[in-house]
Amino acid sequence: MSGYKVVYGPVPSRRLGRSLGVGPIPFKTCDYSCVYCQLGRTTHMTIERKDFFPPQAILKEIEQAIEVDEHWIDFVTFVGEGEPTLCRSIGWLIRKTKEITDIPIAVDTNGSLLYLADVRADISEADIVMPSLDAGTAGTFRKINRPHRELDFEAVVRGMEKFRREYSGEIWMEVMLVKGLNDTGEELEAIKSILERIEPDRTYLNVPIRPPAEPWAVPPDKETIALADAILSEVNTVEITTEETGEFSTRGFTSPEEAIMAILRRHPMREEQVIATLKRLKQSNIEDCLARLYESGRIKRVSYRNNLFWVTVEERRGKGKGKGKGKGKGKGKPGGGGR
Ligand code: SF4
Repeated sequence: MSGYKVVYGPVPSRRLGRSLGVGPIPFKTCDYSCVYCQLGRTTHMTIERKDFFPPQAILKEIEQAIEVDEHWIDFVTFVGEGEPTLCRSIGWLIRKTKEITDIPIAVDTNGSLLYLADVRADISEADIVMPSLDAGTAGTFRKINRPHRELDFEAVVRGMEKFRREYSGEIWMEVMLVKGLNDTGEELEAIKSILERIEPDRTYLNVPIRPPAEPWAVPPDKETIALADAILSEVNTVEITTEETGEFSTRGFTSPEEAIMAILRRHPMREEQVIATLKRLKQSNIEDCLARLYESGRIKRVSYRNNLFWVTVEERRGKGKGKGKGKGKGKGKPGGGGR
């Protein structure tokens, strides 16, 4: 069985190809609790930066994973199961990773802490930073991202602006569209005005494609997505992201069940992705393996937009159309939780 605790993958990423994920913080430790988060509701809401795991141990895992898989990895991505900039040593980890490999480094962040000078300095050596901007107004910010009470929307936006002025790498902005929350012409115009201030290199328009924290967090209709595309494209090129299709790495795992659990803890998978992964692990009886995990109460099946997904039951989700009967805290309704 893999001994990795914070490093996983490479996993197929919608924007980065094969991404080695580094999650330097514990599950659902975040300063937001986004309605669309694919990891469920935030269980540890905090804005306090600290080392949740020993930095040396994280670096060791990164070194080991790169040694085994270097030719397979397109990006080392600091992402996590919450907000990675809450890790106080993220800057040190990025610098040390750069010393051991030429693989580019990305940081997938909600961008909320960029108002802090030390966070801006810490991630300044990454090649790509991918912050989120899902709202154009403070009211929508509260509704969609449900931030820590000490976070102020205008301060968050000013932090992103400052980062743009100081940082020489690429900023790929992510906008998640949720039906009825941030998809009106007025809200989209407000988001556009903020993007004009931040001047990202690219903007990605996302919609919830995996089971969200709240089952009502669904994509807008096609016409509304086209409207959003038209409005935001006035700032710079907008790409609408779609589902990834690549393989999930199972390297280092000898137990198929642990491999599936390790992936699902960070990333809900469509049923066909779980089956394809088990086949690659030469699992002769896939149904038995899934049944064992299901009966143990560790995973459950969730229906979302006509697709069946497997998710872990550690997370807390709003009540929805969950079909599983997991025994954990989750009640059955993504990362970097959807970002
Ligand atoms: S989507 Fe990202 S920022 Fe939002 S709650 Fe999930 S982990 Fe936190």
